[in-house]
Amino acid sequence: MNPVLEINNLTISFDGFKAVNNLSTSVKKGDIHFFIGPNGAGKTTLLDAICGRVKPASGNIIFHNGSDVTRLSEHEIVELGIGRKFQVPSVFNGITIYENMELAAVKVRSLYSSLFTKLTREQNERIKSVLNIIGLYEDRYRTPAKLSHGQKQWLEIGMLLVQQPEIMLLDEPVAGMGRKETEKTGELLRQISQQCSVVVVEHDMEFVRECANTVTVLHEGALLDEGDMEKVQKNPRVIEVYLGR
Ligand code: ADP
Repeated sequence: MNPVLEINNLTISFDGFKAVNNLSTSVKKGDIHFFIGPNGAGKTTLLDAICGRVKPASGNIIFHNGSDVTRLSEHEIVELGIGRKFQVPSVFNGITIYENMELAAVKVRSLYSSLFTKLTREQNERIKSVLNIIGLYEDRYRTPAKLSHGQKQWLEIGMLLVQQPEIMLLDEPVAGMGRKETEKTGELLRQISQQCSVVVVEHDMEFVRECANTVTVLHEGALLDEGDMEKVQKNPRVIEVYLGR
């Protein structure tokens, strides 16, 4: 599989402290790629760098078509096709699920500007298809207020998917979910990976085992091991710094 994202010798410093330290890795097209490691290992900082929230001290991040995204703005990076979902759900509870999807599809940033945007037939078809994928089609005319925590997370994932990103970045998508919702999220990610590459930061090891194709273990900002879960979970250093805890 070809890389859709390459990270080369990336170092991110905060007042001289290296949160990410000379990290090189790549994300393959269509992969479900997890970043794991102890608290403070640099996982969230890495996602922040990929989506343009923080700027590295050195190194670069190359998107598959050759674009160097390292110094682009968050907005420019979204436009290129790299979408990010944060840990806390941020859907609008006062409008319907369908309207939330409409806002996402046209990438508007306020309800006010959405009043002036008419969706194309293709965008509406895409919304319906995504609502089916996330299992909320039947609920589309309800507001998200009464959805479960898991369903709200899926709605947000759907709101990213409808923008047709090439890479989706997810920060602890199953945090706060029960086992059943976690399993459903795994199925959802597998389905999504047929359309776009999925990069996940996660602590739930059962979930990682269930759905990771590739796992990168970070420790103190650096790469400790990388490969499939089968491989990395046998590494004595990985067990020592993370899995054995
Ligand atoms: P993880 O997601 O693996 O838990 P983070 O990327 O959140 O780790 O943090 C890595 C390290 O960088 C931590 O020691 C954290 O305190 C530090 N850090 C993260 N963001 C900042 C910031 N904005 N300013 C200073 N230090 C930060």
